[in-house]
Amino acid sequence: MASAFGHMAVAYAMGKTLNPAWATTRFWVLTVLCCLFPDADVLGLVFGIPYEHVWGHRGLTHSILFAVFIGLVMPKLAVPSLPRWSSQYGILAVYFGLVTLSHGFLDAFTDGGLGVAFFAPFDATRYFFPWRPIAVSPIGLTSFFSSLGLGVLLSELVWIGIPVACWLIGQWVAKKKKASCFREGP
Ligand SMILES: [Zn+2]
Repeated sequence: MASAFGHMAVAYAMGKTLNPAWATTRFWVLTVLCCLFPDADVLGLVFGIPYEHVWGHRGLTHSILFAVFIGLVMPKLAVPSLPRWSSQYGILAVYFGLVTLSHGFLDAFTDGGLGVAFFAPFDATRYFFPWRPIAVSPIGLTSFFSSLGLGVLLSELVWIGIPVACWLIGQWVAKKKKASCFREGP
């Protein structure tokens, strides 16, 4: 896995790209939940489910199908007043689906563990991207708060932090430009 900080940074950038009117506390809590929930599968290791099993780590909860399922369920929880199957519902469904899927994508850029079963449960093959610059985060808090964890954070600062910061700055500049154009008029 990438660390929780890495996953949350990407989800935050995705959330900031959406309509700010939706950005309630509830929206952000669900966004964080979606980007971190796929790693609930580490509990399977405790119950003896092998890593490489479809229910194992980086298995079904990291798949595209799981992200689609989460995407369909979340909009009503995030914005209860939203009419079901309206276009706004669709936008939020795509958003929460992509936030959930972003977890597996980041994991597939890491340099350790097994790959991600993107096509589970139909295909159990584990996939990595050809380029894997992100140091894999150790499982468990004790291992994370060690020199190993520091290396992971440094690697994520470069490969996740910088792109996310550039994206947020770009958005901020675009919004400022739009606002000043609107003030100046045609
Ligand atoms: Zn993961």
